[in-house]
Amino acid sequence: MPIVDLRSDTVTQPTPAMRAAMHTAPLGDDVFGDDPSVNGLQAHVADLLGFEAALFMSSGTQSNLCALLAHCQRGDEYLVGQNAHTYRFEGGGAAVLGSIQPQPLNHQPDGSLALAEIEANIKPIDPHYARTRLLCLENTIGGKVLPYDYIEAATQLARKHGLACHLDGARLFNAAVATVAQAGSNGSPYAAARAIAGQFDSVSVCFSKGLGAPVGSILCGSKALIADAVRWRKMLGGGMRQAGMLAAAAQYALTHHVRRLADDHALAQQLADGLSGLPGLTVQAAQTNMVFISVAQEKAAALQAHLKASGVLLTGLYQLRLVTHLDLNAEDIALAVAAFRNFFR
Ligand SMILES: *Cc1c(COP(=O)(O)O)cnc(C)c1O
Repeated sequence: MPIVDLRSDTVTQPTPAMRAAMHTAPLGDDVFGDDPSVNGLQAHVADLLGFEAALFMSSGTQSNLCALLAHCQRGDEYLVGQNAHTYRFEGGGAAVLGSIQPQPLNHQPDGSLALAEIEANIKPIDPHYARTRLLCLENTIGGKVLPYDYIEAATQLARKHGLACHLDGARLFNAAVATVAQAGSNGSPYAAARAIAGQFDSVSVCFSKGLGAPVGSILCGSKALIADAVRWRKMLGGGMRQAGMLAAAAQYALTHHVRRLADDHALAQQLADGLSGLPGLTVQAAQTNMVFISVAQEKAAALQAHLKASGVLLTGLYQLRLVTHLDLNAEDIALAVAAFRNFFR
């Protein structure tokens, strides 16, 4: 039975060409700064996104954590969305390991944090309060692309109050590809990514999501921030040795798997279209590679069981999340839609 795995864009297998790039990568000991493939990737991404420096990381969680630890001291605070990965899905690392307090804010329907709420939550300089140091945004957030004008306004507001700005851009290139498509242009997704990233003091990007690499993320920032991040990464156990094999996969993904993210977005649209109109199912419009659906509570368990028996894997409870990726095609999506339709027949 074919399995249609819609749980996440992290489930992809490295392609044969990616494996070949890994196989032939020149290697060294990256803790000594000797790995040419890691150094090449870091220089390439820093240049591509318009930063002084970049640092290859073992995961997005580690990359965001190193950024938070580099931006904030003990007793500092960061403003962050309630559903942001850096707040909700990283084990409370910033609080546990950095004594950094999160100030979570509710999201607007488009995933943004209201400017007025950001401003109202920047604490005065007064011993009653933690020192508000950092605004942390995420793009894409829940599959949604933050509007460019919003990012500009939010980061300007933060700077006006002396805050630094970090972007969790795990899916920055999905945002970039969608932005180019929305503009109806043939523009470069790399330039679009650089324009978004340029609004921030630091940006973390995942290679192991839609870009299809097996492992790895990268943190971009100033030389000083990255020097701090190198220390934190080592402390967190993230100093890797012949990491060039992984950097080569990331470099391959960056070169060959960015423009094709448009295919994942088209598959998500196919999925949303196929599921819309089914009774008892509410389908949210797909903007990038995710489709969120809600189902009546009394049907949820039976639906999940039916889908699983049909080889369709997804995550969520009542609000289900379906994610498209490199290892899926239109036939797989048609199979998934058919499994849903069978259930509601
Ligand atoms: C996956 C993800 C991360 C963390 O990446 P890991 O490599 O799984 O640690 C961070 N932020 C967002 C938005 C993500 O989707």
